[in-house]
Amino acid sequence: MNVVEIKDLNVYYGQLQALEKINLIVREKDFLAIMGPNGGGKSTLLKAILGLVPIESGTINILGGSNKKKRHLIGYVPQFSSVDKNFPITVIEVVLLGALNKGLSFFHKFSEEEIKKAEQLLDKVGLVKLADRDISKLSGGEFQKMLIARALMTEPKLLILDEPTASVDAKSSQDIYNLLGSLNKEMTIIMVTHNVMAISSNVKELACLNVGLVYHGDPEISEEVVNSLFGCPVELVAHGVPHRVLKEHQEDNHVS
Ligand code: ADP
Ligand code: MG
Repeated sequence: MNVVEIKDLNVYYGQLQALEKINLIVREKDFLAIMGPNGGGKSTLLKAILGLVPIESGTINILGGSNKKKRHLIGYVPQFSSVDKNFPITVIEVVLLGALNKGLSFFHKFSEEEIKKAEQLLDKVGLVKLADRDISKLSGGEFQKMLIARALMTEPKLLILDEPTASVDAKSSQDIYNLLGSLNKEMTIIMVTHNVMAISSNVKELACLNVGLVYHGDPEISEEVVNSLFGCPVELVAHGVPHRVLKEHQEDNHVS
């Protein structure tokens, strides 16, 4: 059974077409990186998978059911976290919030089991010593690891991350890719990234998105190639595997 199956997906914001005729299959234990220029629809694609944006046409199935019904099987680390860094809350409290996937009740009392689970997850992401630290005192990398732990509270089958290393230094980014590599042994991962380090680490597949899906296949490409084409390495990548090109790359894709 495919973890994600997208057929002929079109998404609009008013007149603007954000996604055009997307067909994509993600299989169990895949680790798919999605790259592409700013405004290329990467975040929109993730939100569509999560059922967070209205779709014009097409279908999205998750593990054999509609994405709305299977939402509970997906863990999500959004691009711009709604967690306010200045809010006085500790690391473990943020992770516990991940347990409240069905609407947040202010007076919810967490069970012993939930607290234990949160502690285990903090251990897994390497933050156990920081459990009681105020989130305002975290580095960018620690903050992202906390959000990953939060997303894991519901024991997802699919983990979706939107630029998890965007404001993270190189060393911590590598830490995060290592962590994702080990999580990938247990779950399927889809990650939007601009970071070429990511695709040279544990990523198994690469997709390039510029409204349409312009490439989906092997991530075996050199760093210079990706650098020179910034996130949309379709022409050179596709050279070796022309049958996997879905649509010609346009000239004006580069990000300023
Ligand atoms: P990416 O994540 O690749 O940078 P997005 O998915 O965020 O791209 O955006 C794709 C396009 O849709 C962009 O042109 C963006 O301006 C537009 N867009 C995104 N979200 C909205 C929204 N809520 N309302 C209107 N337009 C949007
Ligand atoms: Mg985005």
